[in-house]
Amino acid sequence: MDSEQLREYGHRMVDFIADYYKTIESFPVRSLVQPGYLHNILPDSAPDHPETVEKVLDDVKTKILPGLTHWQSPNFFAYYPSNSSVAGFLGEMLITGLNVIGFSWVASPAATELEIIVLDWLAKLLNLPEQFLSKGKGGGVIQGSASEAVLVVMIAARDKVLRSVGKNALEKLVVYSSDQTHSALQKACQIAGIHPENCRVLKADSSTNYAMRPELLQEAVSRDIEAGLIPFFLCGNVGTTSSTAVDPLVALGKIAKSNEMWFHVDAAYAGNACICPEYRQYIDGVETADSFNMNAYKGLLTNFDCSLLWVKDQYAVTEAFSANPEYLKNKASQENLVVVDYKDWQIALSRRFRSLKLWMVLRLYGVETLKNYIRNHIKLAKVFEQLVSQDSNFEVITPRIFSLVCFRMVPTDDNDEKKCNVRNQELLEAVNSSGKLFISHTALSGKIVLRFSIGAPLTEEKHVKEAWKVIKEEASYLLRK
Ligand code: PLP
Repeated sequence: MDSEQLREYGHRMVDFIADYYKTIESFPVRSLVQPGYLHNILPDSAPDHPETVEKVLDDVKTKILPGLTHWQSPNFFAYYPSNSSVAGFLGEMLITGLNVIGFSWVASPAATELEIIVLDWLAKLLNLPEQFLSKGKGGGVIQGSASEAVLVVMIAARDKVLRSVGKNALEKLVVYSSDQTHSALQKACQIAGIHPENCRVLKADSSTNYAMRPELLQEAVSRDIEAGLIPFFLCGNVGTTSSTAVDPLVALGKIAKSNEMWFHVDAAYAGNACICPEYRQYIDGVETADSFNMNAYKGLLTNFDCSLLWVKDQYAVTEAFSANPEYLKNKASQENLVVVDYKDWQIALSRRFRSLKLWMVLRLYGVETLKNYIRNHIKLAKVFEQLVSQDSNFEVITPRIFSLVCFRMVPTDDNDEKKCNVRNQELLEAVNSSGKLFISHTALSGKIVLRFSIGAPLTEEKHVKEAWKVIKEEASYLLRK
């Protein structure tokens, strides 16, 4: 690394990115390119000789930016937020600049120790039970994604139960979740070798907010035990992806405990909001959980990737994930049992120094700013919800809890749900093709539902109101047709 070259190019890169943010509203939010577009305009092979930064940045501007969907645009309301911020960006710069790989304590002591400290800070902010803190058997770790977090705890839980009932019982292990649980759980089951017929996907309660029904869970568990199977893993949700449903954690936790199941709470999407005292109630019952995850990269001003996972029993995880070849052996790990080697808490060996950016976010913004930041998005969602409910052509489909509004155009006179679904899909495509905003959809009880997810850092009330105007215009055009 040539320091002077870094200084020169680094300044230019910062200028480039700052200009991007300044002009971000001028791009169509969802990219309008056709599949294969880049293949047609880039060379077939890598250059033999160095090119200039100017030339590369010019290509980024003219060839790459048109093919981007602008997640940081204030008019991005699709999927879920993926925040970037100055603090998060500076943190990423530091991570990349220092480029350490702290897989074990000795491989970079500060990387490990800062991660422990920052995860304890966040656990306290969320008012998680003490057992999740690092001072006892528990602790937190940063994973690259919630999917990895769920897989890690499922494998830890699997190995824990197999140690007591015998390895041959794998075929008997049963996993429980609601039909609103993220597909990450299904992937985890596939990778963990859970028999496909032993994944109980329980119908969520469509009369409420699509939360899991404890009585269905209890029935399923009892049936499985009677059939000689072994219930071992329950996944509850705080903020499902489709509609931010919140499962009744207290009731689920009781069932998990009385049946000796590992209880995981997936709060990847909405967990961030629970740092605000008024939203903390949504994780009441987390005391009964064995593990809990939330994505700081979704709503906490921390650039991707940064997925937080806490467990009460770190040894269940390290038993499942530790590997100690000769070339990694070191005095600290061997002799000092207090040392954490995060390689034993995850799938990969190598790991990024992600805690640095979270630490920078917490320090440069402070907790109060973060809370108000989250509150503002929820307030904007209320504004949008109100606009929708005042219009007789539309309906809000599920009660809004956080910053996601699920809505749709209502059926016309003939009350034909199929036609209504088609119309909503047409509306979705029309709105997104306009390039003025980007929303996404889901299906709830067979209805195509539009999702308006607020959380981009640059979004203000004027963007929400303008977005509603576009949606209404496209809808009235469709209705006239
Ligand atoms: N769980 C929930 C509730 C989610 O909303 C998501 C992402 O949308 C995930 C899990 C998966 O997150 P990741 O992309 O970090 O694996």
